[in-house]
Amino acid sequence: MNISKRIGFAAAAGFGALAMPLALAAQQGGGRGRPATFLDVLQRPKFVTMLVIGFVVLALLLTKKMKNGVKVPVLLLSTFLYGVAANLPTKIFAGFSMHPSPICSAAKAVLYGFRTPMIVTLAVILFLTLVGPKLFCGWVCPVGAVQELIAMLADKLGIRRRKWNFRTTNAVRVGFLLLFIFLSGTAVLHTVQNEKVVAVSSYDYVNAFHGYEIRAQATPFDTVVHFLPFVLTLAFAFKFYRPFCYLVCPIGLLTNLVEQFGLFRIVRKQPVCTDCGVCREKSPCPAIPEILKSAAFRPDCFSCTVCVKECPSGELEFGVRDPRARKPKA
Ligand code: SF4
Ligand code: SF4
Repeated sequence: MNISKRIGFAAAAGFGALAMPLALAAQQGGGRGRPATFLDVLQRPKFVTMLVIGFVVLALLLTKKMKNGVKVPVLLLSTFLYGVAANLPTKIFAGFSMHPSPICSAAKAVLYGFRTPMIVTLAVILFLTLVGPKLFCGWVCPVGAVQELIAMLADKLGIRRRKWNFRTTNAVRVGFLLLFIFLSGTAVLHTVQNEKVVAVSSYDYVNAFHGYEIRAQATPFDTVVHFLPFVLTLAFAFKFYRPFCYLVCPIGLLTNLVEQFGLFRIVRKQPVCTDCGVCREKSPCPAIPEILKSAAFRPDCFSCTVCVKECPSGELEFGVRDPRARKPKA
């Protein structure tokens, strides 16, 4: 697919993503005195900018313009908008708070019922993931963005990262989910509200998104529980690629399943691969061996495009997923 077709494809998809809900939302209006609808919430600046960032990133990836000089500002913007901004003493950014966080949107919706902001958050995440591999996680999520920035900084500082074994990390991530299901079902972790026992999400104790909420905590223990997951995530991100995403986040687990069906992804341009192994060595993720095998299921790919840039033969590219792609001969 040539560049103009790629841009056209991305622009059409972006227009479809934004124009339709915004037009519908404009027709419906906000309406006082009634609960906000899906479209009311979707047209809020936070979600509109998330979709815009997702589609700008898509266009940059398709046109091979996602160089480090572009990548860093995009990641800083997402970190600022959806992480830092809501803490500033200005009303402009009040609506950008990561509430409900992606984790809370999934876990608390299961526990206490799906509320509209949770549904919209999950819809935006799933929609962007269906368009391209982790377009939300890779480029919009503030916890994901800060981990990506640290990975880039670690590379600059010459810190050698250890690579994950995907089976191990995924087992840990599934373990957190099973623990959540068990503890929620049995209400082992609970609080009492209006004399009723209410289960508490076990993810509240490991939620790195809380680290962006700067507010006074009730007790020193609360402060540690609040900030520790974020602090550990930042520290481990120097040594491991996206530790929170691969090990803990249930949205990482969900989007890993959904990204298998994405419209765009890292694809092979056979048959120029010389099996030199450079992409495997230089890429931060565990997805490359499966991509090279054209395996049906891939570990999480955050569309960082390091593999594309590092391949000396130009075998890999960010392009349209071809569901008919055959496995290469061994
Ligand atoms: S896996 Fe979770 S923490 Fe990581 S980028 Fe996605 S939503 Fe954010
Ligand atoms: S190196 Fe390639 S396969 Fe790995 S996360 Fe980046 S784009 Fe995806």
